[in-house]
Amino acid sequence: MAAGTDLFDYGELTAACTRCRLAGSRTQVVFGSGDPNADLMFVGEAPGFHEDKQGVPFVGQAGKLLERLLEGIGMSRGHVYICNVLKCRPPGNRDPQPDEIEACEPHLFRQIELIEPRVVATLGNFATKLLSGRPLGITRVHGQEQEVTLGARRVLLYPIYHPAAALYTPAMLKVLESDFARIPALLDGAAAAPAAPPPAFEREPARPVAAADAEPVGQLGLF
Ligand code: URA
Repeated sequence: MAAGTDLFDYGELTAACTRCRLAGSRTQVVFGSGDPNADLMFVGEAPGFHEDKQGVPFVGQAGKLLERLLEGIGMSRGHVYICNVLKCRPPGNRDPQPDEIEACEPHLFRQIELIEPRVVATLGNFATKLLSGRPLGITRVHGQEQEVTLGARRVLLYPIYHPAAALYTPAMLKVLESDFARIPALLDGAAAAPAAPPPAFEREPARPVAAADAEPVGQLGLF
């Protein structure tokens, strides 16, 4: 299928990326994995130790939880596409830096353009803030879907907690499970409402928010 080939080719190109400093410390680029024509795409934060070694996103403990949550809605990794905001591991798993996010962003937008998902589930703060274009944190916006234009396509953006944040916090896991349970209905709804004709590439512009809503950049994190 054309999208699959194009995505594969783009992944091959990205394997040699030197757009930011992380090129110097990574083992390999972790581009993404799953169905290149998926209706549902997950966007996490950045590869960790195991992902950097194996070249596949979400293969550690957070990935196991993501797989379990997918099973709970009758899906598996093969039904979806999984990737991250950053394609390379930050040393010591530190937070992504703003300039790294900016440098890597074209890769994510190209993936979205090629995959053409109907629903993009953002896992945690970094993916949510980047793709919503808003500074609102995940604690505030999780479970609230919104239509956005990404990669020349209307998609339903669905912010949910990052599985790593839910691993050791039972209350957060409960919330993540209940947000996850809505995904099939969102996919049905998104399937029923065809995407609007694609305008030129655009993202929802950042909107001014009350100071209390905004999180200082230095406090970005999983939740
Ligand atoms: N593994 C990933 O690939 N991404 C994350 O955000 C966390 C773990």
